[in-house]
Amino acid sequence: MSQQYDLVVIGAGSGGVRAARISASLGARVAIIEGRFFGGTWVNVGCVPKKMFAYASEFPQLSELARDYGFDMSASKVDWPTLRANKDREISRLNGIYEKLLREAGVDVYTGYGRVVAPGQVKVGDTILDATNILIATGGQPWLPQFPGREHVLISDDLFSLGALPASAIVVGGGYIACEFASILHGLGVEVTQLYRGDLFLRGFDQDIREHVARQMRESGINLRFNADVQSVGLEAGRKHVCLQSGEILHADQVFYAVGRVPNVDSLFEGVEVSTKLNGAIEVDDEYRTSVPGIYAIGDVIDRVQLTPMALAEGMWLAHRLFGNAPAQALDYDNIPTAVFCHPNIATVGLSQQEALLHHGKLRVYLSEFRPLRYTLGASRARSLMKLIVDDASDKVVGLHMVGDEAAEIVQGFAVAVRLGATKEDFDRTLGIHPSAAEEFVTLRQAQIVEA
Ligand code: NDP
Repeated sequence: MSQQYDLVVIGAGSGGVRAARISASLGARVAIIEGRFFGGTWVNVGCVPKKMFAYASEFPQLSELARDYGFDMSASKVDWPTLRANKDREISRLNGIYEKLLREAGVDVYTGYGRVVAPGQVKVGDTILDATNILIATGGQPWLPQFPGREHVLISDDLFSLGALPASAIVVGGGYIACEFASILHGLGVEVTQLYRGDLFLRGFDQDIREHVARQMRESGINLRFNADVQSVGLEAGRKHVCLQSGEILHADQVFYAVGRVPNVDSLFEGVEVSTKLNGAIEVDDEYRTSVPGIYAIGDVIDRVQLTPMALAEGMWLAHRLFGNAPAQALDYDNIPTAVFCHPNIATVGLSQQEALLHHGKLRVYLSEFRPLRYTLGASRARSLMKLIVDDASDKVVGLHMVGDEAAEIVQGFAVAVRLGATKEDFDRTLGIHPSAAEEFVTLRQAQIVEA
């Protein structure tokens, strides 16, 4: 028996759920298909549990800080089963909320893996759904390259269900996830070595930010190794050994790989050819149309910007495009604020100095590296860094970067200013909130001139 829908969404992650709910609220008859868990990576094995673990990992440092303020809060070891169980309870609650929101919006929910079997037809189990529009929002999953011993390593999903915390761990990778995992594990008391194949990790971020974070992570006790490429991984008396290309051998209780993610497209299309990029990501135009009429794709599966808020925005945009007042313009992919919740946190909006030089001939670069007030009573060597990049010709702030406590919370507000095209003069005319770290962004005076 088949059912007729205006929209069938495959994948109930951030983008899929948002598109389904908004479409239903605009009067469309909508079905959503999910085979694993509601909320996708974001809720289950990504941002939400990661942030909970990141909070947990800050307590040892906070208890040290408390001593500087006269409190005796001796740092004890984390009780991992408690942390994991509390996290699981909250995630289950969120899964339930997501499903409930969908049902309350009038979306029909199907459990299983959806396959597009013909243009306008999706199969889930034995049920055929006829759809005027099909939306692929299946997200992505951690990628593990081929190398001898790959069966001995864990991927990012595994951290969230780990039975016990290892005493030592090697984290491979130099992007968002590797830096966040290295910081979390280190904060939770694990002896961490992070390996990155190039000269300096966090490629794509501003050079000053990358160098500062590397210094601070090393200062905190993470063994950060650059130009360290893994050749193979082995198992020896219950411990892992990692052989580097250089011939050096490192030992640890666990090895985590975080070297990128790949789109979930396996078994998605049967008898329908949708154009994909080399890595399998589905190709779409500015309106999220794939090469097959009536089939759309959004979120990590299109591999444009793998960020939850982007998937949400794409889902919202498409729902309005299909069933509401079509948005006048395509989504803007410039000035997307982002954060890496490593320790210290990084947050950024706009261009790095290196990117800015490709677009603007002359820049004024304002940089401040300082010891935050909260650390001045003790021996902490934590230092924050703030950087503004200004196009000299227009005086516009084209890049704003921060490393330090609550960087994401601070940069979110400034992202509005950067999006609105604020000039350095606008920043100068804004009074600081005193005393705060954030006020540094409106009190920067000394510029360095950088020309292309
Ligand atoms: P990233 O693309 O951020 O980083 C991948 C890292 O792995 C890079 O350092 C890359 O090195 C390295 N790498 C790639 N291939 C290999 C290889 N064969 N051997 C060794 N190293 C390799 O991927 P992540 O997995 O960290 O994260 C995926 C995406 O998820 C991110 O791009 C981000 O969009 C999103 N995310 C966002 C978060 C947030 O908003 N806070 C948190 C977590 C994830 P190189 O630079 O040399 O290519």
